[in-house]
Amino acid sequence: MTEDMLKTAVLYSAEAPNEEQTKRFEAFVRERYGEDVDFRWEETPDMLGGGFRLKVGSEVFDWSVEGRFQQLKEAIRKVAKRHENVVPLIKETIRTWTPEAIAQEVGVVTTVGDGIATVTGLDNATFGEILIFSNGARGMVQDIRENELGCILFDEDGDVSEGSSVKRTAKTAGVPVGENFLGRVVDPLGVPIDGKGDIAEADYFPVEAPAPGIVKRQPVNTPLETGILAIDAMFPIGRGQRELIIGDRQTGKTAIALDAMINQNGKNCITIYVAIGQKTSSVVQLTNTLKKYDALKHSIVVLASASDSAPLQYIAPYAGCAMAEYFMHQGKDVLIVYDDLSKHAVAYRTMSLLLGRSPGREAFPGDVFYLHSRLLERSARMADQYGGGSITALPIVETQAGDVSAYIPTNIISITDGQLFLENELFFSGQRPAINVGISVSRVGGDAQTKAMKKAAGTLKLDLAQYREMEVFSQFASDLDEQTRKQLTYGQGLMRMLRQPQYHPYSQQEQVILLVSAMAHAMQDIETDQIPEFLRTLLEKFHRDHPEIGEEIEREKDLSDQLKAKIEDVAKECAKDFLRGNRE
Ligand code: ATP
Ligand code: MG
Repeated sequence: MTEDMLKTAVLYSAEAPNEEQTKRFEAFVRERYGEDVDFRWEETPDMLGGGFRLKVGSEVFDWSVEGRFQQLKEAIRKVAKRHENVVPLIKETIRTWTPEAIAQEVGVVTTVGDGIATVTGLDNATFGEILIFSNGARGMVQDIRENELGCILFDEDGDVSEGSSVKRTAKTAGVPVGENFLGRVVDPLGVPIDGKGDIAEADYFPVEAPAPGIVKRQPVNTPLETGILAIDAMFPIGRGQRELIIGDRQTGKTAIALDAMINQNGKNCITIYVAIGQKTSSVVQLTNTLKKYDALKHSIVVLASASDSAPLQYIAPYAGCAMAEYFMHQGKDVLIVYDDLSKHAVAYRTMSLLLGRSPGREAFPGDVFYLHSRLLERSARMADQYGGGSITALPIVETQAGDVSAYIPTNIISITDGQLFLENELFFSGQRPAINVGISVSRVGGDAQTKAMKKAAGTLKLDLAQYREMEVFSQFASDLDEQTRKQLTYGQGLMRMLRQPQYHPYSQQEQVILLVSAMAHAMQDIETDQIPEFLRTLLEKFHRDHPEIGEEIEREKDLSDQLKAKIEDVAKECAKDFLRGNRE
């Protein structure tokens, strides 16, 4: 704030203040701003309802009737939103309310366009602070320059015009959070967009929050089961982990996340799906699918569609994360999907370029790494004394022609605890989910895997690696020796077993049974294209004739040698019957 600006205090009112009032105002100004203030009165005939407004530099004190009315309205709105039975609370608020002389900083919009406004006169506004424009539109400070601020607008920018006034709120951007959001679709500011009415929030959380420190965390040690055999067996995910799903467009990325969400049914895990820059229609479809599989009741869908402004898309994942943090701090487990962060980075690039920041590699601003690191670091498994809750993140990234070494993919790969690489070629050959077993990894989830799964999965990854090396020879099958041919059919069988249709999650006991059976070569003599049917028959047999086996796996979460032998016996028996049945 310049010295000159500080020196004038202007009092606005419809009628001139009397001597007594002038004295009081001068005393007020002197007490706050020192002796050197030049005090004058300006006639403002159109001041609604009367009263005074005092402006010193960029600070405004509002003693007008209209301003006090706004203050009271705000106080009532606060109680009314948070509680069920509001009438007595409103009465109490009105009874105890006293007008305050709050200094409000008011600035002016100098330029506006493309969802960005430049504002002058708000010298004390902080980064990330919410600003309110004269027509009620909201914006957020994103750029602090010497004499002006760059502000992103959340509402349509047509409503904000040059010369209109802007107020500080001294609040950083936040979203309403709470249990009532479960089962709902909201925009990144927490406003419901599913037509099911208002949502009473339990609290208000900042969209930007520091990640929990190391002391507050504990290692990942509890599995987050996706129900997808290939993932749970080879790339297990633990609660609190960040596992990237990466692949070209239309390779089943969303499908994996969606299956994982559905599989949390009855597993005490809340799920949040953040859609960034997608078509609204596909998100509607996803929401309907969640509903169909009874998973919407434990889910929140946060939607910033492709037609929303870049600032809204930019803020969406942080808002979703804030909603997740509310539950995590209560000791609950949350799975959050960011679909997808490539589009998020693009929205941020658009916003940054409009704010006039210098473009760097691929025209992204230099802090694009921090954009995602500060988001994904907020996933954590909290220590028991902090409630033991967790946020597991499944960020999604879209690649171009399988190029994982592009700028944004490499950034996010280095932030996450592992990646599931989805491949076009596998997807089109029918191997779905199209996970490339060779280059996918999960770094911390292994500690979270149950002993039963760990023992059952055994050498699966290794066996598949061997199979991939030999796969090229399969076209010479007739010239191969018996041993090699056997290994090839074994590998093909495993690959076939890992194909899994959407919305068909396997329970842990089913996964253990399938893995033990397959790795005991029980499917050796079964034609590859009959494997799906055999697996169905096999699982049916276990459910029907040997329910105690599944029960023991669920109970012990371990796989004793005896139990393993028993599964192998049943599986081989079942294969014999299956082959006999087919021959007859
Ligand atoms: P986009 O890049 O458009 O976001 P995506 O990578 O998220 O695409 P999805 O939308 O999940 O891909 O899947 C693409 C198509 O493949 C969908 O029609 C989906 O139903 C189908 N699909 C995905 N996974 C499987 C599967 N395991 N079995 C059969 N079909 C699948
Ligand atoms: Mg998708």
